[in-house]
Amino acid sequence: MKILNWKENINEYELDCVIDTLKSGGLVIFPTETVYGIGADATNSKAVDDIFIAKGRANDNPLIVHLDNKNNIEKYAYISNEIEQKLIDSFMPGPFTIILKKKDIIPNNVSAGLCTVGIRIPSNKIANTILTYSSIPIAAPSANVSGKPSGTDIDDIKDEFNNKVDYIIDGGNTDIGLESTVVKVIDGIPTILRPGFITKEDIMDAIGVVKVDDNIFKKVDGPVESPGMKYRHYAPVNECKLVYIRDNEECIKYFKDNSNNNTVIIGSNKLKDIECKKFLYYGNTLEEISHNIFRLLRLADTYNPELILIEGVKKEGLGLAIMNRLVRASSYNYIER
Ligand code: AMP
Ligand code: MG
Repeated sequence: MKILNWKENINEYELDCVIDTLKSGGLVIFPTETVYGIGADATNSKAVDDIFIAKGRANDNPLIVHLDNKNNIEKYAYISNEIEQKLIDSFMPGPFTIILKKKDIIPNNVSAGLCTVGIRIPSNKIANTILTYSSIPIAAPSANVSGKPSGTDIDDIKDEFNNKVDYIIDGGNTDIGLESTVVKVIDGIPTILRPGFITKEDIMDAIGVVKVDDNIFKKVDGPVESPGMKYRHYAPVNECKLVYIRDNEECIKYFKDNSNNNTVIIGSNKLKDIECKKFLYYGNTLEEISHNIFRLLRLADTYNPELILIEGVKKEGLGLAIMNRLVRASSYNYIER
C-alpha cells in the first residue's frame, strides 16, 4: 500500500500507476467533495467484492457508481423520465446521487442484487481526473470500516485500511464532509433516501416537488428503499448522546447538568466553558459543522470518555443531513425539545 500526496498537485506519473491499478482490479482510496471513497472498477465484480471485504460491508448494501461526465450515464443506467433528467441537469456534477434502473454491464454485487444503481458525478478535481483519464466507472462507498464515521481526513482512516488497498490518495480534508444526497424518483416524486449537502429545499426549487423518506430518522429492520438505512452507522466506539434543545439557556443548563470530567462535548462555543474532559468546537455554521463532524466524532474517541455529548442542530437545510448522521452516530440515543 502506498500513500500519495496530491494535496497541492496531481502527480502525472502516479496518476498512471493509479489508473493501471484500477484497470487490473485493485483498490484505491481517493478524495471527493463529500468524503473519501474506496474505489474499484465497477464492471469488475471480483474487484467490487474486494471493496466489501476491505470495509466489512454487508453485501445487501449497494455501492454508488462514480462517473466523469453526465453524458456517460446511459452507458450504465436508464434515464426513464423527465424528472430524472432534470435532477441530473440541476445537480450533477456535485454531491448528489441518483438511483436509476441499471443496465446489465453493472454487476449484481455493485447494486446488491437490486435492479437499480446509484450514479454520482463528483466535482472534486482529483476524483474527476481519475475518472476522466481512466474512462473507468468507479464503484465506491465511503472509505471507512463499516459502522464507523466516514473518512474525511486520511490520518483518520489510513490505519483502518493498512494494506487492504493499493493506493491512498491524500487530497487534504474533504470540503463538504457529509456523504452525497441520495435521491430516487418514486411515482414521479424525487424522494430523498439520504439527506446531504443538496437539500430538500434545493430540490423543491428545481423540481417543484420533493419528499423525504420516512425512514431517515427511524431504526429500520425490514426492506427499505436504501439498504444503507438499516445499518449501524457513523458511530464512535464510546457511548454518544445527541441533544437538541431550542432554548439556549435550557440547552446550556442541560449540558452543565449532564457533563463531568469523563465527558467529551462536541458543539458550538456556547458550551465551551462547561466542565468536561474535553470540549471539541464543531463550528459556527451548518457548513462548518458538516465539514468537521466526522473528524470530531473520531477525535472524541481518542479521549476514551464515558460519554460523548453532542449538540444537535435544527433539522432544516443542511441541518437535516447533519442530524440524520448524528442520530445514527448516537444509536438513536437523543433528545429533542
Ligand atoms: P456509501 O457509499 O457508504 O455512502 O453508501 C451508499 C448509500 O447509497 C447507502 O446508503 C446505500 O444503501 C445507498 N444506495 C446505493 N445504491 C442504491 C440503490 N440502488 N438503491 C437505493 N439505495 C442505494
Ligand atoms: Mg458509508
